[in-house]
Amino acid sequence: MKRILSQLRGRQREMVKLLGEFVRCESPSHDKSAVDRFGQIVAREWKRRGASVRILRQDERGNHVRAEIWLGKGKPVGQVVVLGHLDTVYPLGTLAKMPFRISGGRAWGPGTFDMKGGLTLALFAVDALRAAAIEPSKRFVLLWTSDEEIGSETSRRAIEQEARKSEAVLVLEPSFGTDGRLKTERKGVGGAEIIVTGRAAHAGIDPEKGVNAVHELVLQIERLMKMNDPRRGITAQTTVVSGGTLTNVVPEHAHASVDIRYSRQADRAQLNRKLHAVRPILKGARIEVRRTGDRPPLERTAAVRKLFGQAQSLMREMGLPLGEASTGGGSDGSFTAALGVPTLDGLGAVGDGAHSPREHVLIRALPARAALIAGLLATL
Ligand SMILES: [Zn+2]
Repeated sequence: MKRILSQLRGRQREMVKLLGEFVRCESPSHDKSAVDRFGQIVAREWKRRGASVRILRQDERGNHVRAEIWLGKGKPVGQVVVLGHLDTVYPLGTLAKMPFRISGGRAWGPGTFDMKGGLTLALFAVDALRAAAIEPSKRFVLLWTSDEEIGSETSRRAIEQEARKSEAVLVLEPSFGTDGRLKTERKGVGGAEIIVTGRAAHAGIDPEKGVNAVHELVLQIERLMKMNDPRRGITAQTTVVSGGTLTNVVPEHAHASVDIRYSRQADRAQLNRKLHAVRPILKGARIEVRRTGDRPPLERTAAVRKLFGQAQSLMREMGLPLGEASTGGGSDGSFTAALGVPTLDGLGAVGDGAHSPREHVLIRALPARAALIAGLLATL
């Protein structure tokens, strides 16, 4: 590991340069041609390394990129999947006010941390294995998807298909905290739309003839808040509300979006039951509950702990510490973990400020992260 690390330290500048090229090619999830353009750059880098690259074409969303590479001799024994996403949350033009720049030992810019840094690391990890003439026993499949930031609707199938054929899944999402902890536990993410229908009436002349949908919604939100159970890892937050038309009209319609998260898959059914059991409180009001998006939790199973232990001992060989963390955010690793495939998440860059104007990665941490990915790929 020490040898791999020192080799990668010598390539730190190249890593930053490639990251810069990646960041300068903006790739917001909703802009297919932009994501496709960036996908082509990533595909080019993998082809350059001898990978066989397939573009998984999509009609509306950006294309996914699947790269397969075999560094061993003879035939591979199974495969390891490396997951990452090409898309970012930043609309086209963000670079104008938030350009890629180096300052204070950090590389700043949209998507540096989440997760063009991770995409860069994978390339250098494979380079390092080749330079050290290490022959892994498994084939690597690198799946770079285009819609992670908006729920992975078009990529989930491909992710699950590859995971089912794999011994392990490495997820290059940003690490946790400025010390680069891995994510060994993630919450499941679900949501609901609450649609309330009341009856319109003049707010001043005959309000008693109306049914106030906004009032009903407020009462329901109050009840929903009771679903929060921090000890069990359950959160329920009403995040968007709307309702009413004019100041002198009893509102007929009101609507709320609810974000629901849970640590244990076993709690999901009960939460669903509670949501669907919602009944109107005001006489004459009607309520419809629609469940939206669903990502299972990544649970800290024995298999996850074992993978983490392996990562920790690789870091120890380099004389570096490695911690683990639990997070409320979901990732594509949640899909693969739910299939029972050992999944290690948060292997991407060390940094901070994802999805914000302060997004950046720590430059001096890049070589060790790439070395860790190389070490895992070589020993899985
Ligand atoms: Zn991400």
